[in-house]
Amino acid sequence: MIKAPFAIGVDLGGTRLRAALITADGSIVKRAETATLASSGPETVLQQIEALAKEVAQSVEPQQICGLGLCAPGPLDTKAGLALSTPTITGFTDFPIQAFLAQRVPWPVLLENDAIAATYGEWKFGAGQTLENLVYVTASTGIGGGAVVDGNLLHGRKGMAAHFGHMTIAPDGPLCACGNKGCWEALASGSALDKMARTIGLSDARAVFAAATNDNKEARLLVDETAQWLGIGLVNLMHLYSPDCIILGGGLSNGFDLLSIGISHRVKSAAMPPFQNIPIVKAALADNSGLVGAGAMVFDQN
Ligand SMILES: [Zn+2]
Repeated sequence: MIKAPFAIGVDLGGTRLRAALITADGSIVKRAETATLASSGPETVLQQIEALAKEVAQSVEPQQICGLGLCAPGPLDTKAGLALSTPTITGFTDFPIQAFLAQRVPWPVLLENDAIAATYGEWKFGAGQTLENLVYVTASTGIGGGAVVDGNLLHGRKGMAAHFGHMTIAPDGPLCACGNKGCWEALASGSALDKMARTIGLSDARAVFAAATNDNKEARLLVDETAQWLGIGLVNLMHLYSPDCIILGGGLSNGFDLLSIGISHRVKSAAMPPFQNIPIVKAALADNSGLVGAGAMVFDQN
């Protein structure tokens, strides 16, 4: 039997829902996105996923599609197909999203953590191609990630490995969305920089990067502070995983060039010498890492 040439990748976020029809080489044939109706309940969100998946699938026969890979924010139990407690989407508590979605679409459904799917996308088709070891970190609303170790994508118990954002970096630091204090994402995510931006009269992280580019001193200090916190976590990950490369994605990577100066300083001062030359690069697939990764996983499961 000839293998179906297409898969659907869906990236469910707390604010955006994206879907794409992809081929086995990671090319996007058709892509669509919409705002997630995150507070309207799980039934509405399922309807949205079904509609968007069917929209991107329109141009081909259903049997030409080998499956649908859905990625969503954690914690998920991807082995049981459950959303355990997604703070950004109402009703996603112990919610059997994989089984419910499979009832609505004519394809097998695979469930993956969004950052692990993005890691896979960057590994297969993006900035980490051919590497045996890599760490991917996405910093936007929160911080998530994934790791490839000795040529294997890390999943861990219940598929919950690599929730890097909740490493405690400063025990007396700001409160995190998870309830703990001083988590990495409470200090170094896009939302952490958004909050700091408002203390100097700027709207958000993007405005901070623009002002820092124009040599605004206060904005530069905020960029340096964020880079410091990012660097502290990245050095921890270097020591933990000894990756061939660290890939940085998510909204905060829009300021990659500005941040990388401070990150390099932190790496130089805190990483043990044999770890200091691990390259830190920007993600290559931007918003599509998760989509493409989730779709590609379907091919690789068949
Ligand atoms: Zn946390």
